[in-house]
Amino acid sequence: MHEILQKRVFNAPDVCLNCHRRIRVERNRPERQYSTDASTSESKWARNRKTTTVAYGPADAVSDAKGIWCDCGVEGSYVRIWDDEPLPEDENKTADVNAEQFRRLVQATIRILEDKGITLDRQAFASHALQARHDGDCVTESLSAGTSHAIVRVSEASRKRVTA
Ligand SMILES: [Zn+2]
Repeated sequence: MHEILQKRVFNAPDVCLNCHRRIRVERNRPERQYSTDASTSESKWARNRKTTTVAYGPADAVSDAKGIWCDCGVEGSYVRIWDDEPLPEDENKTADVNAEQFRRLVQATIRILEDKGITLDRQAFASHALQARHDGDCVTESLSAGTSHAIVRVSEASRKRVTA
């Protein structure tokens, strides 16, 4: 796994692991208390209002059920609802992530990496990722292949900050 992809996308608290969209933005003044967003109170993160909603999900107690939901339908940044399997060799079997979903993940990954200060050759990213997937790699390894071939320049993480 490419280190930059690991650090800035898969292990990042502000990126949805399921669709690779930014679901949280860094606060300008993290020391201030904010009470409304259940899972980000007292944190330095605020939810990204463009890509998330606050909603209720399954929980033991009603008061615990409120969460921040990404537009893709998962709660939190470490939930993934697809299986990261290699492409099945048998062409009659379908992968959990189909070609169209994979293309969307490629685009979202390029967008989030650029958003975080990585300059990429987008064509190289897409072609190497699609090739790796075509050759049967799992989704994360394919994205990793794209990343390794596409990085032009790495700047310090340029997070978008909010004053809210
Ligand atoms: Zn998502």
